[in-house]
Amino acid sequence: MAGLSWEPVIGLEIHVQLKTRTKMFCACEVAYFDTPNSHTCPVCLAHPGALPVANAKAIEYTVKLGLALGCEIAPRALFHRKNYFYPDLPKGYQISQYDVPLCGKGAFTVPEPEGDRVVGITRAHLEEDAAKNVHVGGTGGRIGGAAHTNVDFNRGGTPLVEIVTEPDLRSSDEAKRFLQLLRRTIVELGISDAEMEKGTLRVDANVSVRERGETGYRTRAELKNMNSFNFIARGIDAEIERQIGVWEGGGEVVQQTFDFDAATGKLTPRRAKEEADDYRYFPEPDLVPVEPSAELVERARAELPELPGTRVRRLEPELGFDLAEGLVASGRDRLFARTPGDRRAVANVLMNELAGAGVDPDAVDGDELGKLIEARNRVPRPVFADAIARSGDEGFSADPFLAEEATSDVAELGPLIDEILAANAGQVAAYRSGKEGLLGFFVGQVMKRTDGKADPRVVNELLRAKLSA
Ligand code: ADP
Ligand code: MG
Ligand code: ZN
Repeated sequence: MAGLSWEPVIGLEIHVQLKTRTKMFCACEVAYFDTPNSHTCPVCLAHPGALPVANAKAIEYTVKLGLALGCEIAPRALFHRKNYFYPDLPKGYQISQYDVPLCGKGAFTVPEPEGDRVVGITRAHLEEDAAKNVHVGGTGGRIGGAAHTNVDFNRGGTPLVEIVTEPDLRSSDEAKRFLQLLRRTIVELGISDAEMEKGTLRVDANVSVRERGETGYRTRAELKNMNSFNFIARGIDAEIERQIGVWEGGGEVVQQTFDFDAATGKLTPRRAKEEADDYRYFPEPDLVPVEPSAELVERARAELPELPGTRVRRLEPELGFDLAEGLVASGRDRLFARTPGDRRAVANVLMNELAGAGVDPDAVDGDELGKLIEARNRVPRPVFADAIARSGDEGFSADPFLAEEATSDVAELGPLIDEILAANAGQVAAYRSGKEGLLGFFVGQVMKRTDGKADPRVVNELLRAKLSA
């Protein structure tokens, strides 16, 4: 197939909303979801003469992130004005960083089943977010469909980090894996909640394709508005397929920006002129350069936690890649470390039952959970499920649940099984003539009659004995 000769090339641009108490250049509280326009001041509303002052916490957070991404930290970074006109930008420019970002070149290592993927980081810079346009009335959606647009300035001037990667990713899977690990890193650094659904983590994907073996890159398209990791992967796959079609059809891919529509999974092109890239950057005259002291940088470096990628590799030998990655990416590996018991059993319960019940792993007492997992074959299934669902409750104890041992009493189960076999003579005959798969049916009947409280191992044993008699 011709498709086999194409290699995708992907680079990401990621915006992270920092979790500081106040905005980037003023003392307004960061409160995106409060009453619209209830957190504003002359600075973030761009009144004439108001002067910005850089938020030291935002600088410290960005330095931490830069170090986790292996970036060089600039000893003297600059703020620039990025000029453009839009209703969500009252100054007519955004304060951002341009040729000297706070975090320069870096590399972020993503464990893959077949080895490491080292993703080059081009830069990570600090800027202010724009206000939020809320399109209302009409058919809604982007401007054009809406009757009018409201602007909420609570978000205006809040601190934002933009991370730009090199075009080093080679599939939608790799992009998703990179993003999950990056998200985990950001959350663990405590600098942002990084939640895509809430817009505190936003990702644009740049996609091109080339023939395998080709050295240069071809023209790319940019995808915006994808608000989950799965949508990003789907958007990238759709774009890869579209571009291969264009090239194979004798056409040429042109540089273009697409919006991803979550409802249809389709990419719609933006109007071509919407992104004129003439921002007329110039140094922000009202701000001094950012000069993080060597002391601050070294303290931040010393405080860096063990990174998620390293932890995946540490857990991999005992659990295998998928379980190790799943535990780390979901933030459950700390609970895994403090839960005693058979390692694979613990990992599986964390990834399946605990995740399914939506329990916050950080709220769980590992010792109590360990007791529960150890007894999982002795307590009735419904009791086990109930206990798991409550394992994150304040003061949770496994003991009351463990007291509810599964019924393994033969004197009680024997007559019940006789009754069930008598009532299902047809199935019994079928089983005896070779349809041994019917065993599950009988087990199910016993479980139903005992509200799931029968010990499945005893039930199986009794059934086999009685059916072969
Ligand atoms: P701009 O400044 O116009 O946004 P950049 O060169 O800074 O462009 O690249 C932005 C993003 O696009 C980066 O993440 C980069 O890795 C990615 N990128 C650049 N060229 C390509 C390409 N040919 N294919 C895929 N991604 C690309
Ligand atoms: Mg860009
Ligand atoms: Zn303000």
